[in-house]
Amino acid sequence: MKRFIPWCFLLQFLKFFPFNRSAAYAEVDLNNLNSLHIENRLLEFILPYEDSFSQNSYQGDINTDIPFTIKEGSIPILVSAPHATEHLREGNVKKADIYTGSISAILHELTGSYLIQSSGFSEDPNYIEAGDYKQALKQIVEENDIKYVIDLHGSARHRDFNIDLGTINGQSIKNSALQKIKYRFESNGIDKVAVDHTFSGLSGGTIVNYSANNLGVEAVQLEISRAYRDPRNDMNSFYTLLLSLNEIINELNDNINQETLDSEMTFNDVPFSFWGWKDIYFVFKNNWMKGQTESTFSPNAHLTRSQAAVTIVRALELEAKEPLKQSFEDVSEEYWAFKEIEIARQHGIIGGYKDGTFGPGNRITREQIAAIFAKTIEDTTRAKRPAFKNVNSSRWSFDAIMSLSKKGIINGYQDNTFIPGGYVTRSQLAFMLHRYAQHRREIKDYDGIFWDK
Ligand SMILES: [Zn+2]
Repeated sequence: MKRFIPWCFLLQFLKFFPFNRSAAYAEVDLNNLNSLHIENRLLEFILPYEDSFSQNSYQGDINTDIPFTIKEGSIPILVSAPHATEHLREGNVKKADIYTGSISAILHELTGSYLIQSSGFSEDPNYIEAGDYKQALKQIVEENDIKYVIDLHGSARHRDFNIDLGTINGQSIKNSALQKIKYRFESNGIDKVAVDHTFSGLSGGTIVNYSANNLGVEAVQLEISRAYRDPRNDMNSFYTLLLSLNEIINELNDNINQETLDSEMTFNDVPFSFWGWKDIYFVFKNNWMKGQTESTFSPNAHLTRSQAAVTIVRALELEAKEPLKQSFEDVSEEYWAFKEIEIARQHGIIGGYKDGTFGPGNRITREQIAAIFAKTIEDTTRAKRPAFKNVNSSRWSFDAIMSLSKKGIINGYQDNTFIPGGYVTRSQLAFMLHRYAQHRREIKDYDGIFWDK
């Protein structure tokens, strides 16, 4: 690996190393972080990291000519924390984004990412057009063939998001990588993850803009709420954030190593803001549902009974129990979904009509889908919650609907109706499959699910 450290930085490099922490913490890996967390001692591990930034009222080291610190990594990802200390913007002193210094330092040790962070007092590196911080960042990126820059910031608790991912409105990072980042936070239980909501990184002097548009490297700016960033508030939130960032860096590095990004979800009709985005991403990644075309998923389209059978057999990984033969007069062996319809019939999860037909082209209703899912779940205890207003207990699908409702696999509408005879939309099926997979994972050690492990 080429060295990027000129002599003037080397001094700083050496100076940064001896954190004020005991030898017991010298090896940072997930196992000892986990032990510390379980023993309620994680805070005493983190606080010494923050001391190097919080000293001198968060102006950091005031006796240095170089108000930032860099550390060499072993993977081509650079974590940046330009506001770890106080800084000047147009003559005003701006507060530090507290704990972004500690988080970036710990991530460096956990993942081997390169590191650049403010550690003294200077002009705002995320605001001025040029400056030493950007010069050093440029050198790190160019000499080490960095593929991603992750720029950490902090936002106030009162904001209406927990994390805002700044991508200069989609310019600074490919959608596939952005989806992975967003999904990882959400699957770890961090909600309200926004994209370009308040902080898009658009203005000229941002690190994300400089990285993407001047250096041509993919970059994302993370504005992290104080609620997750400050370990003194709630260690579980902080730890979830730290683990998520660790996983994100590892996943991005896997991408780089494979040199092939996973097939990108490029549906124009499924924007991040769509309620079912996460569910559609999940079923798409698992190859359970595909788009109608490369660029459309048609989330509000209905499904035929054949389409539903194919999707569910795929999702449940069902195999034929006996040789396949034609059971329904309207589903011949040449029919495109013959195999899946027969497998579903063999497993008893989907039947035909009384007249011996299957109705492969008929649209499937919400209660029919509920009945299918309910048949695959042994526990059929009913929901304690009151029934939906319009689902009578004498209805054939009542038990199935109540069982799934209890498990959170199906939802009614906001007015507490269910509309059992309504047609299922593709996004509703994606929602149910996602919830179903989560439920199945809870009840047994099921590892057939991509991503959500
Ligand atoms: Zn900031």
